[in-house]
Amino acid sequence: MAREVQVRCRCGEVIGLVSNASPQKVNRVVCYCDDCQAFAHQLGRADLLNAQGGSDIVQVAPASLTFIKGRNRIAGLRLSPKGLFRWHTTCCNTPVGNTLGPAIPFVGLTAQTFEGGTRTVDAVFGAPLGAILGKYAVGPAPAGSTGINLTLLLRAITKVLGWRLRGRAWPHPFFHLKTREPIYPLKVLPQEQREALRPLCGPKPALRAQA
Ligand SMILES: [Zn+2]
Ligand SMILES: [Zn+2]
Repeated sequence: MAREVQVRCRCGEVIGLVSNASPQKVNRVVCYCDDCQAFAHQLGRADLLNAQGGSDIVQVAPASLTFIKGRNRIAGLRLSPKGLFRWHTTCCNTPVGNTLGPAIPFVGLTAQTFEGGTRTVDAVFGAPLGAILGKYAVGPAPAGSTGINLTLLLRAITKVLGWRLRGRAWPHPFFHLKTREPIYPLKVLPQEQREALRPLCGPKPALRAQA
């Protein structure tokens, strides 16, 4: 049965609600890509990565996520001019949603930001369906995480198309309906700063993270 669960930043200034919370309404995937790793390091939140640099991500429909507190503490970062919009809080640098533009509607939420953490997420959404982009994992790639996972890919495409068709793209928690412009302040990481993050990330980090 679908229910409502809270997401909150580490310090509690920013709170959101996810409606329609059930395994059928989301994709939960562990992403090992170097961009997700770099973003966590940029935020100083390597604590959110698993031992091999993976991010446990729950993708929900934009209309399922509403922020009910602390909207003035949300900002966005792109790791490159065309990169994902990676939204985070400015109070405690907690990621609160990865998105593309509103034309490809989804919001990727870090599992640990759900109230009750991964235990809640396991109970409400079920275990991750799989892992992707394991070639960037720190150390050996986790089983089944490399190459193209057609099942996961098709499921993601089906979900996003379904959200689009069924009107779940709007209201979008990060974009204005009329202008399609971001609601929150947005920065693009300068290229030299992006490059400086690479030694922290897989597959062979040259530097150790300062957690
Ligand atoms: Zn906070
Ligand atoms: Zn990723």
